[in-house]
Amino acid sequence: MNQQVNRVFSELEMDAKPDNIYIQTIGEVLRAADLVGLPHRLQLILAQPKNEIMVHFPVQMDNGEFQLFKGYRVQHNNVLGPYKGGIRYHQEVSLDHVKSLAALMTIKCALNRLPLGGGKGGVKVKPSALSQMELMRMTRRFTSALGENIGPDYDIPAPDVGTNAQTMAWMADTYMNVSGPSLRQGGASVVTGKPVEFGGSLGRDKATGQGLVFILDELLGELGLDVGKVTYSVVGFGNVGSWTARLLAQRGAKLVAVLDHTGSIRNDRGIDAGELASYVESKGGVAGFAHAEAVSTQDFYSAKVDLFIPAALEQMILPEIAAQLNCKVLVEGANAPVTPAADQVLADRGIPVLPAVLCNSGGVTVSYFEWKQNRQAETWPLAEVDTRLRQTMQSAAERVKASAKRFGCDLRTAAYCAALEHVGTVYQLRGIFP
Ligand code: NAD
Repeated sequence: MNQQVNRVFSELEMDAKPDNIYIQTIGEVLRAADLVGLPHRLQLILAQPKNEIMVHFPVQMDNGEFQLFKGYRVQHNNVLGPYKGGIRYHQEVSLDHVKSLAALMTIKCALNRLPLGGGKGGVKVKPSALSQMELMRMTRRFTSALGENIGPDYDIPAPDVGTNAQTMAWMADTYMNVSGPSLRQGGASVVTGKPVEFGGSLGRDKATGQGLVFILDELLGELGLDVGKVTYSVVGFGNVGSWTARLLAQRGAKLVAVLDHTGSIRNDRGIDAGELASYVESKGGVAGFAHAEAVSTQDFYSAKVDLFIPAALEQMILPEIAAQLNCKVLVEGANAPVTPAADQVLADRGIPVLPAVLCNSGGVTVSYFEWKQNRQAETWPLAEVDTRLRQTMQSAAERVKASAKRFGCDLRTAAYCAALEHVGTVYQLRGIFP
């Protein structure tokens, strides 16, 4: 870790454990901040979230018993606009995970020049262990526990791992019911990723995968690859993984291996992404898919492919896995899937990494479009959403390329630099209150 990063950690009395996900994320952000010459006082501000909200709330389960849940909402920074970021339901949700994801949202929104800040939230729960009614009651109770900490002009959640459009509909409905008269109708824009019938945007479901494919259109040529001819493997076949695969299939790319929480499958002749998506929808995972072979985790990671796309959870690609990968480019679909130590292994092996803050920012971009449509009482056709998304992704990719050239750095650092320069400019213009 460099001297300036250590200075920030020690001034803030942060316990800089190298395996801690927040330390990893913010360490990388601070290194980039140092490179762009962000003033020390701004580095201190960005090293910690503005607000960390933790709530404990009881929910009555179907058997009549009460269960206590722990929920989080972390608001990292709002200098550019209202906090924005997903809500995750997962058994491993922790404060440091949420803090890390919230900081990445600040970077992502800044890189894409969206007038939004960074936030993230979650509940520590295994959603598959709850019935639909239990999930609904838990979501409503969590929303009411967050109270005025969220709002259409203040903090706007969205779906993430373990949550979906239905979860957002319950959140919006709860918020509208517990808010005052002015928000009883207009309050639906408190969340994005809603069902289309209830104010959602066309194209939001596929947005993250779509944005990732637009980035591949922009960047693969320079790396000597043709998006229509590549082979690839994916970790995770949920929203991001499956939409990326379905859209890449339309380009002609060949999916050869998939790993998710149920197992790994491989077929070097190609896996039909649409068929696999329907299978996963009904069975809950890729295990048992008839048109591919079940393989070991090791066989999955060592499969020879052009692109390796982690699109599941954080910190899955550790140094020992990075050493096994047999790919030409690693494309981050998930947030923070590669640890800094694994990043170094990939750099040593000459494997470029296309960073998450660029590749998966299509989700928050179309969320922003949804929020904008809600506020203007408009519904944009899908073609308009896609055109605007492509433009936003292209501009972000251009910024990253320019920054990589200017600072002579890798693409992750370049993306952080391009974002932090923007944040720094806005801080300079606004000044520090009072
Ligand atoms: P999802 O819940 O739809 O899918 C998650 C996938 O991860 C599933 O296929 C699951 O099987 C897999 N998975 C979970 N645990 C695993 C394990 N231990 N090993 C292997 N696979 C495992 O979630 P999602 O919305 O697709 O999000 C995936 C990632 O993308 C997350 O990092 C999320 O923060 C990020 N992301 C999502 C969006 C979005 O719009 N949904 C936007 C930006 C970033």
